[in-house]
Amino acid sequence: AGAAALGALKVLVANPRGFCAGVDRAIQIVEVALRKFGAPVYVRHEIVHNRFVVDSLRAKGAVFVEDLDEVPDGVPVVFSAHGVPKSVPAEAARRKLFYVDATCPLVSKVHRQAEHLIGRGRHILFIGHQGHPEVIGTFGQVPEGEMTLIETVEDVAALDIDDADGGASLSFLTQTTLSVDDTAEIVEALKARFPAIQAPRGEDICYATSNRQEAVKVLAEKSDLVLVIGAPNSSNSVRLVEVAERTGTRAALVERADCFDPAMLQGVSTVGITAGASAPEVLVQELIARLAEEREIAVAPVTTAEEDVVFRLPRELRN
Ligand code: SF4
Repeated sequence: AGAAALGALKVLVANPRGFCAGVDRAIQIVEVALRKFGAPVYVRHEIVHNRFVVDSLRAKGAVFVEDLDEVPDGVPVVFSAHGVPKSVPAEAARRKLFYVDATCPLVSKVHRQAEHLIGRGRHILFIGHQGHPEVIGTFGQVPEGEMTLIETVEDVAALDIDDADGGASLSFLTQTTLSVDDTAEIVEALKARFPAIQAPRGEDICYATSNRQEAVKVLAEKSDLVLVIGAPNSSNSVRLVEVAERTGTRAALVERADCFDPAMLQGVSTVGITAGASAPEVLVQELIARLAEEREIAVAPVTTAEEDVVFRLPRELRN
């Protein structure tokens, strides 16, 4: 009995974790579109960054493409939750395609702020990760050259912008899925160099990102190992691994239970589990079941916030 007790693995599950309101809405949009219009429904870019979600929708008749050029005339097309440059709906309209925009309302909010600021003649410093579709989409809301990307504190020092006026005509905005702590450091550096820079109205990092980071911090403090269910191209999932590691706890991204290497459990008595905003709960349960194959487990939640955010479907799909 002593050996069994030693071998028992405590599994702490973060709350909140997994799907956010924007991801939930985006997936529903594709599902409702499939029911309403029938297959195929085209989707420009992975609707959310998760292969399991994409494969399930593909099985129901969704066709995923990277470019509008790949969408034939006469079929509906959905734009992903990450948002798209203005040129995309413009091109869809020119081709008379029926499109539904699944951009998360919290990303659209940043888009509108960007447009508004540029309209008032300001220059935007945008904190984000180069190449992420959300960043491409947000940059595509304004004319080229009106917005400058900043990824690190070093980038702030290297900016070739005159700071004699304290940055009086500068504003900054951010990607929604950044590390809360890293962003705070970059903002501090911006304010040190440009004391007159204008901050966004409200926080751009979304509630789901900050809640999940807060939860994983608490989880990591209690765990010997943190496993984050999520995809390598999911920004908020990768941030969760970083936030956990920063507490000094070992952490790893796990796409599916079958990618999990049980050797990781060596010497571990408490494992923490969370999931990125685009990772479905079934993958969390699958991983817990996988752990139960290895060791006797005792599962308990670690709750740091309650969420009740729900976004309505776009008008075209409401009935
Ligand atoms: Fe929207 Fe945040 Fe979810 Fe992204 S992570 S889809 S911004 S709620």
